[in-house]
Amino acid sequence: MATLRVESLRKEFDNGRIVAVDDLSLDVADGEFVTVVGPSGCGKSTTLRMLAGLEQPTAGSIYIDGEEVTDVHARDRDVAMVFQNYALYPHKTVRQNMAFGLRMSTDLSADERDEKVRETASMMDIEELLDDKPGELSGGQKQRVALGRAIVRDPDVFLFDEPLSNLDAKLRTTMRTEIQRLQEELGTTSIYVTHDQEEAMTMGDRIAILDGGVLQQTGRPKHVYRNPANEFVGTFVGSPAMNMLDVDVTVDGDRVHLTNGDRFTYTLGGDTARQVASADLSAARLGIRPENVTVDRDPDDDDIEAVVEVVEPVGSDNYLYLDLGETFIARVAADVEPTWGDTVGVQFAESDVHLFDTDGTSVLSEGYPDDQRSPSATSPSRARSTPE
Ligand code: ATP
Repeated sequence: MATLRVESLRKEFDNGRIVAVDDLSLDVADGEFVTVVGPSGCGKSTTLRMLAGLEQPTAGSIYIDGEEVTDVHARDRDVAMVFQNYALYPHKTVRQNMAFGLRMSTDLSADERDEKVRETASMMDIEELLDDKPGELSGGQKQRVALGRAIVRDPDVFLFDEPLSNLDAKLRTTMRTEIQRLQEELGTTSIYVTHDQEEAMTMGDRIAILDGGVLQQTGRPKHVYRNPANEFVGTFVGSPAMNMLDVDVTVDGDRVHLTNGDRFTYTLGGDTARQVASADLSAARLGIRPENVTVDRDPDDDDIEAVVEVVEPVGSDNYLYLDLGETFIARVAADVEPTWGDTVGVQFAESDVHLFDTDGTSVLSEGYPDDQRSPSATSPSRARSTPE
């Protein structure tokens, strides 16, 4: 077990024309499980490959348990990587695949290696596959073998590169739980790369979000969800994505009005208004998560009015696509079933408001500490449609 520290890591390709990773710093605690997530091309795999020693950084440093390993060859780092495509040797049996890394990285005797392989195979429930070759295995079995091969080495750090992407949805869910259980049992420091925000949110002790090679935010999943540092994180994390609307900002004594064209004015009070007022904005982006929207089939004067464009039933809930200038999604109970063309009332609580400046930086990111609601959290929506 070990800590992992990354300092100002940078990776350029094509003589600097491509900056895959830009000034990345990250501290991972002993035994911590950190998920790294971001869209395609954001630098996730390149980061992992640098940690594994498969790619030389252009600048920056990597430390494992306090020792610098930036220039240490991959085979001399005590890390084990699990790949999306399994990377098993096709002509070796499962037993030989699992024992191979041990032979390379330890001086255990053949009997000791065999004993360790059998122990790990039992833990992974793949004992009956030990004499099979990868070609005879299903995708799920191959991935269990790939995991077993990493685990048997008992490394300082596990590096997972989208290990479940080739599996079907059901197996992916099972394997997620299994990887979490194994990691907890073994307590091995782990970095897990995925493009799937749901996977990142459910698996990580901590989540790190990358965009364009730049780290956008790290934190506990719930905290990041409640307090996205910027619009990118706000809209990347959560499904359906956070609704975003352009608003004009007007300070009016100890209140702040957010006006969306001639559609509505939403008035903030209390601490939220103070924070927005001190940011000194004239325009901003208002973010509301679909599950934080309440829909009233009989709108009253205090409601924002919107026309229903689509009703999408997803079983447990309905997603309502509403016209608020831009499409605005409300996630409501399955028994809230307006029909296309209905005018409904939209409400949301001030504590669920996210506000970003025109550069995308959150104005309220420190506003609501995790697990703690602002004093205004219980106050009802103070929206009103304009014109009154
Ligand atoms: P994906 O989810 O699609 O795998 P990613 O987040 O893992 O993407 P990387 O594979 O790390 O992203 O790539 C980051 C950027 O670096 C991309 O623009 C990619 O095209 C570029 N890149 C990666 N490897 C090389 C390489 N060997 N030569 C040139 N450019 C590269």
